Amino acid sequence: MTNDPFENSVTQIKNAGLKLGLGLGELDRILEPQRVVKVSFPVMMDNGQINTFTGFRSQHNNARGPYKGGLRFSPEVSESEVKALSSWMTWKCAVADVPFGGGKGGVIVDTKTLSKTELENLSRSFIRAISDVIGPEKDVPAPDMYTTGEIMDWMVDEYSQITGSKQLATFTGKTLGNGGSEGRTEATGFGGVVVLERLAEEKQLNPKDTTIAIQGIGNVGQYFAIFAEQKGFKVVALSDSKTAVYNENGLDVDAVLKFKETNKTLVGMPDVKFITNEELLELPVTVLVPSALENVITKDNAEKINARYIIEMANGPLTPEADEILHNKGILFVPDILANSAGVTGSYFEWYQNMHDEKWTKEDVLNKLKTKMESAFDASYKMMIENNTDMRTACYMIAIKRVNEAMRSGL
Ligand code: NAD
Repeated sequence: MTNDPFENSVTQIKNAGLKLGLGLGELDRILEPQRVVKVSFPVMMDNGQINTFTGFRSQHNNARGPYKGGLRFSPEVSESEVKALSSWMTWKCAVADVPFGGGKGGVIVDTKTLSKTELENLSRSFIRAISDVIGPEKDVPAPDMYTTGEIMDWMVDEYSQITGSKQLATFTGKTLGNGGSEGRTEATGFGGVVVLERLAEEKQLNPKDTTIAIQGIGNVGQYFAIFAEQKGFKVVALSDSKTAVYNENGLDVDAVLKFKETNKTLVGMPDVKFITNEELLELPVTVLVPSALENVITKDNAEKINARYIIEMANGPLTPEADEILHNKGILFVPDILANSAGVTGSYFEWYQNMHDEKWTKEDVLNKLKTKMESAFDASYKMMIENNTDMRTACYMIAIKRVNEAMRSGL
């Protein structure tokens, strides 16, 4: 076993596929991306020089709909990374039951070394280089690490110039004034709380007695905390990269987030107990919600986890060895491909609105998200019970079954 979340997901897909009775040929067919495009493209720099950059777009599977997934700008981008991440998107879209396949792309670049003009030149030039393979019904990119709504807006503009017509639905994660969707910012955290509510119903947990520890208060963690508190759950621990704050009687989420916003750190916050991020993971809470980093629960600390349930809001926070230990300890974990899938469902809603020239309110978006997340949770929970397995295997089984059926009908 490795600590590479994507190799881990290949292991998980193979296990789930074999449980479904898929042959090795069928497994190979769903593991490999259908197409990987590698491009070298020129970018005009501020000093008048032209530099050449390398970018990729991996299109894993489009049996259920256009490829969908982010574009990241980072020095660590590699062909193998985008291939693995594009596969992950296929399974996530299938579990969420949105009509998309999986894609991912990126450019090898350190954006901190670029001026804003150079960043725009790079974004536009990359789109010119991959324009043949993207489009609203072909492949729909979105923001990812170090790419933003503004970058998506430049890309829409460039792609529209190439095709000669406005092409809003070719990208999601755009700014609100340029075809972006209401509710997208809070979608992922909101969807996680829908999962929490369904779990609480299944397990007959009373929200006010249900304690929650959340690692990370970035976009995902903070909205999870806000909506969980709104629904009456008791958030007892929150953390940033430096420290964690804890109050066994419940934190005032708003006060913690305001303190963080004002001081840029949680260090020094009054009326709370300080613990480390490692201690947060081991708290005796009802629900643990890793919302920051990958590989935070491994074979080294899985035995020490005291939560009864885990909702994986980050991508890949548990390793396969940890899965096994936790499952044997009777801890139920809701996997990332289900728990944080409201992010891609929110993107689907943006694409849908652009395709149909509609504009939904935030309330509309959140209501529709709730319905989608509830049915995704219910189908996965049922699969888990019927197959007497853990919820991650159940989710992969659902996803693989859906993709495999769509591929068969396309033979
Ligand atoms: P973010 O950058 O907004 O926040 C990351 C958080 O992690 C911050 O609170 C940061 O302080 C914390 N953090 C960083 N280093 C840490 C450390 N060493 N220990 C503890 N905490 C640390 O990112 P985000 O958008 O909230 O994404 C968080 C996770 O959720 C990632 O795994 C991401 O891939 C996944 N995710 C995000 C979305 C989305 O819509 N934003 C959708 C699906 C999955």
